[in-house]
Amino acid sequence: MTTTTQSTTGTGPLLRVRNLTVTFTGNRSAPWRRPGTTVAVNDIDLDVAPGETLGLVGESGSGKSTTARAILRLLRPDGGTIEAAGFQVDSFGRRVPAAYRRAVQAVFQDPLGSLDPTKVIGDIVAEPLAIHFGLRGPERDRRVAGLLDQVGLAAHHARRYPYELSGGQRQRVSIARALAAEPRLIVLDEPVSALDVSVQSQVVNLLEDVRERTGVGYLFVAHDLAVVRHASDRIAVMYRGRVVEEGPADRICEQPAHPYTEALLAAVPDPDPARQRLQRARRRELSAAAPVPGGVSASGCPFAARCPHRMPVCADSFPEWTPVTGGGRVACHLYGEPPTTPEDAR
Ligand code: ADP
Ligand code: MG
Repeated sequence: MTTTTQSTTGTGPLLRVRNLTVTFTGNRSAPWRRPGTTVAVNDIDLDVAPGETLGLVGESGSGKSTTARAILRLLRPDGGTIEAAGFQVDSFGRRVPAAYRRAVQAVFQDPLGSLDPTKVIGDIVAEPLAIHFGLRGPERDRRVAGLLDQVGLAAHHARRYPYELSGGQRQRVSIARALAAEPRLIVLDEPVSALDVSVQSQVVNLLEDVRERTGVGYLFVAHDLAVVRHASDRIAVMYRGRVVEEGPADRICEQPAHPYTEALLAAVPDPDPARQRLQRARRRELSAAAPVPGGVSASGCPFAARCPHRMPVCADSFPEWTPVTGGGRVACHLYGEPPTTPEDAR
C-alpha cells in the first residue's frame, strides 16, 4: 500500500455514494437571459460490493456520465460523499492521489478517441505498467503479452496502431489498459454502445471473464437496458438526475416497479409476440400521459410529467424509498404507506 488513506482490509464496500449532487451552470440561451442551472445529479446513493457489477441505466441526459465523472474525480460534485476502493474521494484536494488513479480505472464509449493514435497497442497497454509499477524491458513485454491474451487479442496486435483495429478490438485494448493498473473498480461509461450488437455481447462476456479471474468490480453505465441486464448483478435506474429504482438485475427487468423502469423495458424489443403486445400497450399508455404544464419542480418525482399514474403529490415531493418484493427498492408514490389516493395504488 502506498498511501495511508487506502483501507488495507478490503472488506468495506468497493463503492459507496451518498447524496451525490452535481449542478452545472449552463450557457445563456440568449445574452439577455440569466444562465440556467442544471441539476445533472440530484441526491443519489449507489453501492457496489467487491467483485460486483452495478448497472446504471437511464436515457440520454439522465446524469449517468456526470455520476461516472464524479466517481473518477474528473469533476468535483456540489455535495455528497463518495467512498471508492477504500478512498474518501470527496476529501481529495486539487491533487488526486496516484494510488486512487490506479485503483479506479475507466473505459469510455469511443476507444478511438481515448487511445493515443501515435502509439502502437503494445505501448498503450505498457504505459500504466511503467507509471504504476515501474516495469521495463522484457518483464514489461511479458506482462503486455499476458494482458493482450487476457482480453482475447493476439501477440501481433501489440505492433498495430489503434486505427488498424476494429471497434471491438479497440475496446479490448481499452480494457487491457485498464487491467494493467490492477484496479479494484472499473467505471465503464457506455463501453459497448458504439459497437455492433454481435460484438457488444462478446465484449460483455469478456468483462464477465475478467471479473471472475481478477475479482474486479464494475460500475457499468449504459442507456440500453438489455445490455445492462446482460452485464449486471444489480441495476440502478436513473431519470433526470435521480435514481428512481434499484435491485437485482432480473427482478428489475422481470418485475419493474417504477413506471419509468416499465417505460425503459417497453423500449427493449422482446422476441415473444405476446410480450410485444404488452409492450405496445405500455408505450401507448405512456404516450397518452399529457405533459404537466410548466414542468415539475426539482423536489418532485422527475418522471411525474410523463407518468401515466401521476397523482398531485408527485409534482411536489420526491417519494420515500419502499422495499420491493424480490429485492431492491423503488422511489414512487404508488408504493408505500400511506397511499395518497387508495384507488390509484396498486
Ligand atoms: P447521460 O450520461 O445520462 O446521458 P449526462 O451526465 O451526460 O447524462 O448529462 C446530464 C445532464 O447534465 C444533461 O442535462 C446535460 O446536458 C448536463 N451536462 C452534462 N455535462 C455538462 C457540462 N459540462 N456543462 C453543462 N451541462 C452539462
Ligand atoms: Mg453519458
